Amino acid sequence: MPDHPVPDLSGPLAPGATLGILGNGQLGRMAALAAARLGYRCHAYGPEADGPANQVCDAATVAAYDDEAALARFAAAVDVVTFEFENIPLATVEVLEKLVPLRPSAKVLSICQHRLREKEFCHGASVPTADYRPAEDVDSLQQAVNEIGTPCILKSAELGYDGKGQVRITADSDLGEAWNAMRGHAAQAIGIVEAVVEFRMEISVIVARGANGTTRAYVPVENRHKNHILDETIAPANLPDEISDRAEAIARHLAQEMELVGLLAVEMFVTHDNKVLVNEMAPRPHNSGHWTIDACVTSQFEQFVRAVAGLPLGSTERLCDAVMKNLLGDEIDDWKKILGDPGNKLHLYGKASARPGRKMGHVTRLIRR
Ligand code: AMP
Repeated sequence: MPDHPVPDLSGPLAPGATLGILGNGQLGRMAALAAARLGYRCHAYGPEADGPANQVCDAATVAAYDDEAALARFAAAVDVVTFEFENIPLATVEVLEKLVPLRPSAKVLSICQHRLREKEFCHGASVPTADYRPAEDVDSLQQAVNEIGTPCILKSAELGYDGKGQVRITADSDLGEAWNAMRGHAAQAIGIVEAVVEFRMEISVIVARGANGTTRAYVPVENRHKNHILDETIAPANLPDEISDRAEAIARHLAQEMELVGLLAVEMFVTHDNKVLVNEMAPRPHNSGHWTIDACVTSQFEQFVRAVAGLPLGSTERLCDAVMKNLLGDEIDDWKKILGDPGNKLHLYGKASARPGRKMGHVTRLIRR
């Protein structure tokens, strides 16, 4: 490893600079498109040769996340590194952080990629969550279930998304089977047991925090899921101002406490008695923010680029209400029909095969007030 210091990134990156993006997915693709509009180049890094991001970046390194020689070449070719999903191995960003400015930091990634650390961080920041306990083996799972009560949910602390690695536990459940089902998804992971929240609505808030510590948040939105996968986002969430303000304040507070530079998406439950409980956080653009491309002054992707590049943040003002629908699996076959309605804004991700549940694109409808 070279022993020269990490280049200083105290000022904004000038147009023409290169943003390195870890990950090959659609979030990287839409971030790269926004970066191009601001005059930046992007270089994607990840294992997928034809990932959605690679198709629109100036350069792509196709390599494993533990290939240190490839990481060093990548670091030398870019001015700043960010990531478009949080299941990047921590060791990868720790290697990169020694070579090139990394935004958000490895510390932020380590919190957000691990459900237990995430919940403990919220607890330390006095932000409410569902009641939870760690589970390291079947015995501690039993103890956690005794303490939390049933029904509850066992989740793998790592590598879970879209409901993967989650097992619902009732009074009749066999805890050995539940543990094995969770481990089947993430073999090494410890678990976290969470109380089931009876929510009236699932919402999220996306907040940006710039290099100078300023924050700007988008309005809270409602997220409707099918089979644990986001199906629709309704912007704004139909909630009393007091609840929306509280949700936004929570997201800003978490971004500040983490000293995050970039975007933080905070998923929350609103309970029937109007509590706002944090479910999980993602330190990157988020599926529930895609509506901002068509309906806000600054999209979440442009905001992400601005934060990572050290530019001033843009306005998060909503120009109109919107509904975003994900196109999952073969729903993409409707693309012609969707385009037949001139009010639809269609976004496709360039993925070759439409496996069930795979996010192939989304469509946003603007709602004029
Ligand atoms: P997650 O991967 O944690 O976002 O969970 C996926 C979905 O499962 C969430 O969007 C909720 O619909 C549901 N879920 C997760 N955790 C809980 C919980 N503690 N109580 C009730 N529903 C939950």
